[in-house]
Amino acid sequence: MSRASHVSLASHALRPPPVAPHPETASDSAGEAVGSGSEVAVDRARRRGRGAESNASGRYEAEARVAFDDGWHSLEDLPPFKTTVAVDTARKVITRNDSPDIGFDRSINPYRGCEHGCIYCFARPTHAFLGLSPGLDFESRLFAKPDAPELLEKELAAPGYEPRMIAIGTNTDPYQPIEREHKIMRGILEVLERVGHPVGIVTKSALVVRDIDILARMAKRQLVKVALSVTTLDPKLARTMEPRAATPPKRLEALRLLAEAGIPTTVMVAPVIPALNDSEIERILDAAAHAGVKEASYVLLRLPLEVRDLFREWLMANYPDRYRHVFTLIRDMRGGRDYDSQWGTRMKGTGPMAWMIGRRFEIACDRLGLNKRRTKLTTSHFVRPRRVNEQLDLF
Ligand code: SF4
Repeated sequence: MSRASHVSLASHALRPPPVAPHPETASDSAGEAVGSGSEVAVDRARRRGRGAESNASGRYEAEARVAFDDGWHSLEDLPPFKTTVAVDTARKVITRNDSPDIGFDRSINPYRGCEHGCIYCFARPTHAFLGLSPGLDFESRLFAKPDAPELLEKELAAPGYEPRMIAIGTNTDPYQPIEREHKIMRGILEVLERVGHPVGIVTKSALVVRDIDILARMAKRQLVKVALSVTTLDPKLARTMEPRAATPPKRLEALRLLAEAGIPTTVMVAPVIPALNDSEIERILDAAAHAGVKEASYVLLRLPLEVRDLFREWLMANYPDRYRHVFTLIRDMRGGRDYDSQWGTRMKGTGPMAWMIGRRFEIACDRLGLNKRRTKLTTSHFVRPRRVNEQLDLF
């Protein structure tokens, strides 16, 4: 008899959502049941170097896949989660949004999924749209858009296109490790520089300094600003919470090199997680200001959809002694819930603890001279690229 791995299919209707793994069934601080979660948990050896503890099926799947050991040690045969990259054949790259509480109305994501694997990543639930898990699949089954530069140029060439800052990196990281090989972000920057289009970049990767030549030229024309998010200076916390993102010293060094090259830089303390990294706010801002950064912002931990359970599992596995305290404080700042997606308050939370974090942040910024001036980008250099038909007309 073969010792093949077994994966059973179960109806979502029959199966409770995955919850934080705990040695025993228990109650968390809000009296909510916290079960074993073992049906979706993945063996440590198979997920080495990854952020999530599990790989529960996406919320749109009619059936859930559940691995189980049939007594033949079959789970031991399952291979580790390897990174794979498939091609995303989307025909447009600019995504529009009308959210009233974010400072951009369009964005580009050269990749879907993110190998950095930050456990708190609020982009994780988007992998469910692909029929994949927001857990380990999000960090390992990636999609690249190799045609993004050409598609972008085409969209910018459309009659009636009105330039406004394009945000890149607000969903998945454009400088995640696979960018080293694919160079899609660099191609996008080449297009934006050529047509004089403003761009705001967010990343957790030091790879951004590879493009410092383009970024410096764009900065001279007020076409670019770059934000690096620094969540902690503690190497152990960084490694478990953001396993494949650049280390904190590397991110600070990237900020220093960008600032030195005259590129407007922002440090984002994002996310702030109460009782986990909130005590580091001042230290992170100090270090960033020392690196030459002039602007700073922060975002409170957000736990939409599957991110909540993934974060709970991770917290229980890595910081079990803080589990109750962290969630009590989160709920204090989210109107008694784990997450509140209300426009206007979803980024900073509400209540005394949220207020205190905000004041500490402001006081530290004042002391360090941060946010005295906000970088303004310009659209005045924009020259609409020619469309293919227009180019042919020239001959
Ligand atoms: S770097 Fe950003 S996009 Fe990538 S996993 Fe971390 S939070 Fe998500």
